[in-house]
Amino acid sequence: MQPRDLSAHVAYEAGRGVEEVARELGLDPGELVKLSSNENPFGPAPAAVEAIRETAAAAHTYPKSAATDLRERLADEWAVVPSQIWLANGGDGALDYLARAMLLPGEAVLVPAPGFAYYAMSARYHHGVVESYPLEKADEFAQTPETVLPHYDGERIVYLTSPHNPTGSEVTLSTVETIAEETDEETLVVVDEAYGEFSDRPSATGLVEERDDVAVLRTFSKAYGLAGVRLGYAIVPEAWADAYARVNTPFAASEISCRAGLAALDDEHHVERTVETARWAREYMDEHLACPTYDSAGNFVLCEVGDGTAVAEAAKREGVIVRDTTSFGLPECVRVTCGTREGTRRAVEVLNDVA
Ligand SMILES: *Cc1c(COP(=O)(O)O)cnc(C)c1O
Repeated sequence: MQPRDLSAHVAYEAGRGVEEVARELGLDPGELVKLSSNENPFGPAPAAVEAIRETAAAAHTYPKSAATDLRERLADEWAVVPSQIWLANGGDGALDYLARAMLLPGEAVLVPAPGFAYYAMSARYHHGVVESYPLEKADEFAQTPETVLPHYDGERIVYLTSPHNPTGSEVTLSTVETIAEETDEETLVVVDEAYGEFSDRPSATGLVEERDDVAVLRTFSKAYGLAGVRLGYAIVPEAWADAYARVNTPFAASEISCRAGLAALDDEHHVERTVETARWAREYMDEHLACPTYDSAGNFVLCEVGDGTAVAEAAKREGVIVRDTTSFGLPECVRVTCGTREGTRRAVEVLNDVA
């Protein structure tokens, strides 16, 4: 027998781990600077590590109260009610729940190109059809009513990413509002703020209060340094927030991940240090990289190197791992995650050498 026709599905290509690359190059993992997956260069918040350790002893029981506690905590933070917080296995899991709650088979979604691959993957898993709107270099990859709406044709979900991966561009609240206003009543605008902590702009969560057709995505993977734990959430309008109970996988976020998330939220110092260092690294790369860079509000910078694959390969041989953005449709660029000061300086030196 065979599974259903999966030919339209593209396998997600995760950046490779440090251990794997180190083995290939015959290097010690400690000698590598991994700046390819937008991970937190300082690791998880120490308090989160402690919480994971403490929760481990109860791992044989089904999750207890941590998800409730975390939903309450996040609801407080965003001035919404707990039912509006859809916890999931990473932001990706929350994208799945939104697609599951919205899409009928054959309904379409509209995604940015270049953009985050999982929007399309998730829609296809839910028997949806994927359309895209192009982001142009000439407009610095802007997502605006002028660049998005001409490509809108009644899709059920429109995805906006702010800050945008892999370019670092941002979406204004008035853009979100205009797009929500100009699209059909039954179209949901998802604003992906996976990198929101690194931006100075206000979250679109304020709009979730006023409208029933905007949802926001957030994650603990980036600024909070918990990518390996898999914890993210959507903030959805109160009007249909109860759909969560009907679409989520039982125990959508584990006790361990929720305890880690709660501890990470309490560790303000860790997030502040992460965000400050990312700001510094963005500026440093902008100033010192020989190749042209794009303004970024995230914890990464997109640089125009000519041949992204060749440059990423050459940098890797020097122990610096960056993301070749060919799979994003930008074969002439690489995306460099903001590292520690030391890691960022090293990456700049190596990239200037090989590019
Ligand atoms: C990293 C990322 C996410 C979510 O990642 P998770 O690890 O699943 O939380 C969502 N959107 C974008 C644009 C991202 O870069």
